[in-house]
Amino acid sequence: MQSAGLAAASQHSNEYPIPESMKAWVLGGPEQLSLVEKPVPQPGPAEVLVRIDAIAVCATDIEIIRHGVPAMIDGDLPFEKGFTPGHEYMGTVVRLGPTVDEFEVGDRVTVEVHAGCGRCQRCREGMYTSCLNYGYREKGHRANGFSTDGGFAEYAVNHINTLAHIPDEMSDAEATLIVTAGTAMYGLDVMGGVIAGEGVVVIGPGPIGLMGVGVAKALGASPVILTGTRERRLEIGKKLGAEDVVNVGREDPVAAVERITGGKGVQYVLECSGAPNALNEAARMVNRGGRICLAAFPSDPVPVDLAYLVRNNIYVFGIRGEGKSATHRAAALMAQKRFDAKLIHTHTFPLSEVPTAIRYARERIEDAIKVVVQIREN
Ligand SMILES: [Zn+2]
Ligand SMILES: [Zn+2]
Repeated sequence: MQSAGLAAASQHSNEYPIPESMKAWVLGGPEQLSLVEKPVPQPGPAEVLVRIDAIAVCATDIEIIRHGVPAMIDGDLPFEKGFTPGHEYMGTVVRLGPTVDEFEVGDRVTVEVHAGCGRCQRCREGMYTSCLNYGYREKGHRANGFSTDGGFAEYAVNHINTLAHIPDEMSDAEATLIVTAGTAMYGLDVMGGVIAGEGVVVIGPGPIGLMGVGVAKALGASPVILTGTRERRLEIGKKLGAEDVVNVGREDPVAAVERITGGKGVQYVLECSGAPNALNEAARMVNRGGRICLAAFPSDPVPVDLAYLVRNNIYVFGIRGEGKSATHRAAALMAQKRFDAKLIHTHTFPLSEVPTAIRYARERIEDAIKVVVQIREN
């Protein structure tokens, strides 16, 4: 913390000299990333310049680099536009835009991805990840790493609404995981968020699923049950708070949930696997009137037993990213050390090795879960 006032601010500015240009990875055609020099961007009103200290690789980055979507720039795919991908970053505020007094130079922050446009119905409702002007910069839409420049670079401009303070004792790498925990939090939010004492099944021990276990447990859910195929990840799930884990290679997950809950089923399922039959299985894990949130999806259309959903009054939600300030709530739980997100961080690379970091994440080399690029040593 620092004292307020101009003297302090200018003192801190000197501490963080800002060059005119920076290193940044840009996307050429599909799968073509190159490291270039770009001008350091300037923050406008309600924005700050963030010196990026670390960034985590997300499965969505891999999608964007290969297929373009869900990134979109002015209604078009993000190829050959000098676009910098990457969205799960944290860093240090080094310059304030005009009128900004919500943050100070020197503040350590993590970012959520979507600023939205601030003018459409969804943004006004707090559902800025579902902005109706998504991808249209002239309408004011910003989602760094999706429709505006992201974080595989030394600096980025962020709207102040996308920043959350992080405590000094939290490492850079851990702070990059907050947005992933925020996505899990948003999934639990949209299902109603009333989970203390209720059973929650998390399907799929990927990064969002594992953070879902941590968040559900921190919010008082019981039992928290994690299902998956990889024993090592299920073990991490236990450390994050899962009372029961089910290896679906050994036991049918629906039968296992029935066994664990004494035939009652659970109130909520957070589906994070994208497996073709996951929704049908989730429907048979929840009790009548239960709720399912889909945070992942199969790449092809799949058959769903709709009659079962309707007859049993089962609610199905889909989420896109992390809306309604869920990232801030996740950051609060992590600042309070309610679960140890660091358990999912498996590998670290420097900025010069972003393609290697992405390859580790994509091919799950050495069972990589979260791969972090440490851009600057503090
Ligand atoms: Zn992500
Ligand atoms: Zn909007």
